[in-house]
Amino acid sequence: TPSHAPAETLTVLGAGLVGTLLSLYLARRGHAVQLFERRPDPRLEGSQEGRSINLALSDRGWRALEGVGVADDIRQVGIPMTGRMMHDTQGTLTRQPYGEAGQAIYSVNRGHLNRCLLDLAEAQPRVRLRFGQQCLRTDLRKQELHLLDTETQQTRTEPYTRLFGTDGAFSAVRGALQKTDRFDYSQDFLEYGYKELTIAAGPGGAWQMEKNALHIWPRGQYLMIALPNLDGSFNCTLFFPYEGAESFAALQTPADVAAFFERVFPDAVPLMPTLTQEFFEHPTGSMVTIKCFPWKYDDDVLLIGDASHAILPFYGQGMNSGFEDCSVLNQLLEEHGDDDWATVFTEFQTQRKPNADAMADLALYNFTEMRDRVGDPRFLLQKKIESRIAGQFPGRWTPLYSQVTFSHTPYAEAWAAGQTQDAIMARLMPHIHTEADFDQPAVQELVQQEMANKR
Ligand code: FAD
Repeated sequence: TPSHAPAETLTVLGAGLVGTLLSLYLARRGHAVQLFERRPDPRLEGSQEGRSINLALSDRGWRALEGVGVADDIRQVGIPMTGRMMHDTQGTLTRQPYGEAGQAIYSVNRGHLNRCLLDLAEAQPRVRLRFGQQCLRTDLRKQELHLLDTETQQTRTEPYTRLFGTDGAFSAVRGALQKTDRFDYSQDFLEYGYKELTIAAGPGGAWQMEKNALHIWPRGQYLMIALPNLDGSFNCTLFFPYEGAESFAALQTPADVAAFFERVFPDAVPLMPTLTQEFFEHPTGSMVTIKCFPWKYDDDVLLIGDASHAILPFYGQGMNSGFEDCSVLNQLLEEHGDDDWATVFTEFQTQRKPNADAMADLALYNFTEMRDRVGDPRFLLQKKIESRIAGQFPGRWTPLYSQVTFSHTPYAEAWAAGQTQDAIMARLMPHIHTEADFDQPAVQELVQQEMANKR
């Protein structure tokens, strides 16, 4: 609860996942909020989602949703995925749990989540939602947004006193900051694109593969994944090079696509009746890592979510980290008060920037893990040994995936601990050839030594 109800109206640009949640947080603190969004209201238009239809929601995201009291509603329409299910080229399945019993990440429909948050924001008397408002330009000096009303095609200027840029990876607000002195900016496109495809529901809406898992077809240089939907279907994503022998460029005809899928994903093909049609109708999405700094301009503009840190999708943490931004900002307002924006913005970017950078690295790390290492028996053995170590040294070894996904440990700390653990495993694994080797006295001695040296 806020200490006092501030008089100024806060402006949020971008009613995506992060902007809507942020508006809810700010309104609950007593602020009046106006939220501008380029698209029409997705609740009216039969939603057109440009990007992944479902997202993996994990602990950081849940905590942020709990903070505004919506976690339970969302959980009811999420599907828990308790592990990875790997599919090899023979169709043989291998399961690897994500964490301990009871731990799961959740497959959640993006559109549903966004609409749910918008409904809640609209129900707040202090939030004013404005759709069809595209920001063309931000004037930082005059503190004005130049907005285009996409319906009337009229442009106008809209003054702001405090502006939150939650307008995603290609943020217009960040565009203005990029023109200021000593603003650091980088963007790196991956040489891979992604294509959304569908595994159909079976008769009566039955799931044709294990429902409570994230399915992975690791193929070394590329991969396909699938997340379950409530209607029995799965949303698949093929992550594939743009160029090369096996690439989007190489698959030009429906026959090329069918032959390729039958060769490399044979167990999936019979479940994908719309494969070739979707392959050519659905756009190929690109993936980018964006880093920048500072995230604020004076004490009147702050970038949040993908606008300040767009990452690759392979750890399922883009939205989760943006949601965590909202909880962190809320916590800082709690500590410093709702009117000391200068301190709050400075603290926010100082705290969050190293974590956002670590998360960007982690996302790239998980790309190689998912496309390549999860299909390797040695890697799966290593995971088993790691869980044996975790069992033997309670509280002293948390697998990296669990630290990122099932904890609130800052990403930078999780990443550093993960790298230390990886180095230990690299020294231990040459002595281990089967799970039983872990109990060999010589191996146990090495493990004890390593754990004694681990901080
Ligand atoms: P966005 O979702 O991009 O929202 C920005 C909003 O601003 C949009 O509504 C847009 O219309 C609006 N806007 C933009 N420009 C303007 C303008 N000029 N004027 C007015 N409005 C504007 N994350 C996870 O946590 N888990 C996952 O499993 C996951 N999977 C992913 C899979 C893929 C293939 C991709 C590409 C991403 C995935 N992500 C995932 C990342 C996640 O989608 C993003 O991190 C998240 O959407 C960021 O939210 P945001 O609100 O910051 O930005």
